[in-house]
Amino acid sequence: MRNHDFPSYRAEMRYRCLGCGAERGIGELLYTCPVCGEVLLLEDKSFAALKSRGGAYFRELFDARAAGGHPALRGIFRFYELTAPVLEPEDIVYLGEGGTPLIEAAPALRALVGVSFFYKNDGQNPSASFKDRGMACAFSYLRGQIRTQGWDEVLTVCASTGDTSAAAALYAAYVGPPVKSVVLLPHGKVTPQQLSQPLGSGALVLEAPGVFDDCMKVVEFLAAHYRVALLNSKNSWRILGQESYAFETAQALNWNMDKCCVFVPIGNAGNITAVMRGFLKLHDLGVIEGLPRIFGVQSEHADPVYRYYAAPKGRQKFVPVPVRPSAAQAAMIGNPVSFPRVRALAAEYRQRGGENAFTVLRVTEQAIMDCMLLANRHGHIACTQGGECLAGLLAAKEGGLLAPGEFAVLDATAHALKFVDFQNLYFTDAFPADYEIKPKPALVNVPELLMSPEEKEGMGAEGFVREAAGRIAARLGLARIDDSSRPSGSANV
Ligand SMILES: *Cc1c(COP(=O)(O)O)cnc(C)c1O
Ligand SMILES: [Zn+2]
Repeated sequence: MRNHDFPSYRAEMRYRCLGCGAERGIGELLYTCPVCGEVLLLEDKSFAALKSRGGAYFRELFDARAAGGHPALRGIFRFYELTAPVLEPEDIVYLGEGGTPLIEAAPALRALVGVSFFYKNDGQNPSASFKDRGMACAFSYLRGQIRTQGWDEVLTVCASTGDTSAAAALYAAYVGPPVKSVVLLPHGKVTPQQLSQPLGSGALVLEAPGVFDDCMKVVEFLAAHYRVALLNSKNSWRILGQESYAFETAQALNWNMDKCCVFVPIGNAGNITAVMRGFLKLHDLGVIEGLPRIFGVQSEHADPVYRYYAAPKGRQKFVPVPVRPSAAQAAMIGNPVSFPRVRALAAEYRQRGGENAFTVLRVTEQAIMDCMLLANRHGHIACTQGGECLAGLLAAKEGGLLAPGEFAVLDATAHALKFVDFQNLYFTDAFPADYEIKPKPALVNVPELLMSPEEKEGMGAEGFVREAAGRIAARLGLARIDDSSRPSGSANV
């Protein structure tokens, strides 16, 4: 096959229920099992045929596509055969998602942490979070449905901690009619940057009092009783798209996962579901030989998945928790919709990779903020959830959970700029008490005004330049260059 051809492989995809095992065709958009109500995953019934091609076949194919190929395969569909091999090229939506860089931790940061690690910068996606990976897949499926079923109106809805709505609104705006985007946000619980995104994309933005979990219940009710397309990660097309994070990570590491530990923040648990599933698929196909270890990370203020796995075996019971304010606001979820998926996949993951292959850690709010700022002072662009991952890495190291020679890949799930308000709260020591975050003076940075506007007023243009430069020189302790030591006429500009 030439790498400019669109693949001819088409899968027989089915929704499979994680509760009762019932299967359904993909001709309808399902979120939960019509029989038992449990969540679903999409499966390729012809996966065995892919397996027979062998791991080397896929490594070569994906490496060739990374060097260029069919335009529809530039983003997450580089891994078309493993993603949604039912889509036609004309349905695929590509807005530049995926292909995010794996950035080695700055040497000084690595020395501080004492472990080698990389950040995978998923904030470099088009709407500045990993959610674009899933939306690209969900919207491509919707386009296929619109084309083949002649739908004349598709109302997409989602509840969001900020980034889902930003991504949903972006892709909906690009696809255009008959798609219309509606997003439901917990009032006052998303950052101004995140709120600006669906507004700018022209979505209908609705706000409800409460937290994300409240909004999620409302859109679930809507999806059960009205004709709307739910775009939360309950929608298993999104999980498929997000698996690309695992595929890209493996490819960037030359398909060698030896000694690799992957850290992922857990909110609604769609991301960690997709990451585990992606690695399991690669392992199934022989594309990778061993599985990387997975570390899920939660804040003390939103830790239901941590609590489940911290309980002794046999006494594990999933209990939703009320959330407390968290700087890792995108993961501030007490009743993660994808928990049943995590439970199923973690069991499978441990079966293949051993007990240590899957771990959930808990970190403090203080550590989340300190780690985000520390990372960004070393040239990274981590959001608060990226800080949460670094806090998780430190916790793993301090807890003796890492073996010698192991290294980490941390998910910087969004761009730092989406969460600058938390940085400002830290720098101005203004976190409300319930966050339990106090600034470390060494990490604080605030602008210094050289002079007041009134002072400048009285100086005149030339006087201002001289005075401002003088104050900067004094602030920096600069030594003045002796004028007599330079040739006459040279200006020091
Ligand atoms: C959505 C989101 C998370 C949490 O991911 P889940 O799939 O909900 O577990 C973490 N970080 C950022 C930036 C997000 O947008
Ligand atoms: Zn079922």
